[in-house]
Amino acid sequence: MNNPKVGDLVVCETRSAVWSYHLRVIGGEGFKPGGGYINALCGRAMGWDTRIPLATYGKKGNTSSTWCEACLNEAKTKGLIP
Ligand SMILES: [Zn+2]
Repeated sequence: MNNPKVGDLVVCETRSAVWSYHLRVIGGEGFKPGGGYINALCGRAMGWDTRIPLATYGKKGNTSSTWCEACLNEAKTKGLIP
């Protein structure tokens, strides 16, 4: 599986909360599955990138998973996802 590239939308996870997911567009820093100083579309600081498929964003996962609505709305506004 290839790593996501610059400009790709990916699901990322917060450092502070378990199962708390957001979205971001990869910039010059690249894909950061191992962690890094990255920010979600909503502006929150993220812990790391995941390989969770975008199609499942907000739909499934652990019952305690939370999916950021602000990131989803931002991505839709920017035309990154339908
Ligand atoms: Zn968010």
